Amino acid sequence: MAKVQVKTPIVELDGDEMTRIIWAMIKEKLIRPFLDVNLKYYDLGVQKRDETDDRITTESARAIQQYGVGVKCATITPDAERVVEYKLKKAWPSPNGQIRSILDGTVFRKPILVKNITPAVRSWTKPIILGRHAYGDLYRGVELVVDKPGKVEIVYNPTGGPESRLLLHDFKGPGVVMGIHNLEKSIRSFARACITYAVSEKLPLWFSAKDTISKTYHAYFKNIFAAETAAQKARLEQAGIQYRYMLIDDAAAQIMKQAGGILWALSNYDGDVFSDVVAAGFGSLGMMTSVLVSPDGQYEFEAAHGTVRRHYYEHLKGHPTSTNSVASIFAWTGGIKKRGELDGTPEVTRFGAKIEKAVIDCIEAGVVTKDLVPLIEPRPAAHQSTEGFIDAVAARLKDLM
Ligand code: NAP
Ligand code: MG
Repeated sequence: MAKVQVKTPIVELDGDEMTRIIWAMIKEKLIRPFLDVNLKYYDLGVQKRDETDDRITTESARAIQQYGVGVKCATITPDAERVVEYKLKKAWPSPNGQIRSILDGTVFRKPILVKNITPAVRSWTKPIILGRHAYGDLYRGVELVVDKPGKVEIVYNPTGGPESRLLLHDFKGPGVVMGIHNLEKSIRSFARACITYAVSEKLPLWFSAKDTISKTYHAYFKNIFAAETAAQKARLEQAGIQYRYMLIDDAAAQIMKQAGGILWALSNYDGDVFSDVVAAGFGSLGMMTSVLVSPDGQYEFEAAHGTVRRHYYEHLKGHPTSTNSVASIFAWTGGIKKRGELDGTPEVTRFGAKIEKAVIDCIEAGVVTKDLVPLIEPRPAAHQSTEGFIDAVAARLKDLM
């Protein structure tokens, strides 16, 4: 059987622990035997990041900018404990955070749906995709405990003046304050990335905030979304995409009655909360994919979960593991399908879709890893090992080729 030829390279970012083991199996069993692709390989394993003083992370992000499509394995974000465990020079910053800031990108999370796992919300029959703004607000806030009566003010000192002041509160007793900010450029990039994703996936776009109460801060977001969607009206109309602004509480209630098939753009805190609500509502972390989209349409695909550390320690002890590889497989297929689309090579896109079908066929036949057993109806009698599941997908894929 001739391999499917891929025109332009795909950037591959390797990672850590259990997902690194899974990643290699996917490449060996599901990709290499069927696909002739030039993979620009970057090892983002924590030891290699340490060895290169983290230059490898920046280089991998530049490669994604150059080639347009990357696939990434989950990586360790080191803390003090990891510095000791892996004998690192220091606690290097999050690779995802760095890649996100170089690509100026937005992360979209999307659940993988199968027929024999019923979402907690009955009406959800199609994926709900969440776009979370990943800068500022609560996450860059400054906070202060007020323990004596006194005035707290916001002081703005523009270069060249004049100074202006706003009374936050005149405290008569103890209390607490917080100051948050955001940036025009970051909000605009977020709005553009959401439009790009909505067009690419042909999904209606929602953005929600609370501008009835926050008439300046939240309204600022709303206005930028309105301006960006207006500026790209033709592109949205051509793709048949509707944009809706909704109040956050209205959107939260509405989403429970929808079938799904929506891109829901949210500010940082709302996105943090609702991405976990939606992930839990659909079933399992092992079934949640994630893609970073830059405003100019570069894509990096990955699983939404981490390196599954506990399973890795079991694996090192020589114990059998049953780790769900679905989201990691879909990181590969997301990249392959997008590569085919950008290159104008439908056979490549079709191959990506075939791997996805092989995965879904296996799960729907009750061939699953341990985490899915309690979610599947009817409940399977046994579960697969980590490798056993990937082997089952490979066998099904051969049938589909
Ligand atoms: P995790 O990898 O998300 O796993 C947490 C727990 O969730 C696992 O112990 C497991 O539960 C369950 N789980 C997650 N993914 C699963 C899968 N594919 N199959 C089966 N069960 C799964 O988080 P962690 O173990 O706390 O974090 C490990 C490392 O990941 C950290 O160093 C963190 O920095 C990193 N991380 C990376 C990314 C990324 O690169 N995108 C994202 C998040 C975290 P049971 O133990 O109950 O089976
Ligand atoms: Mg969260």
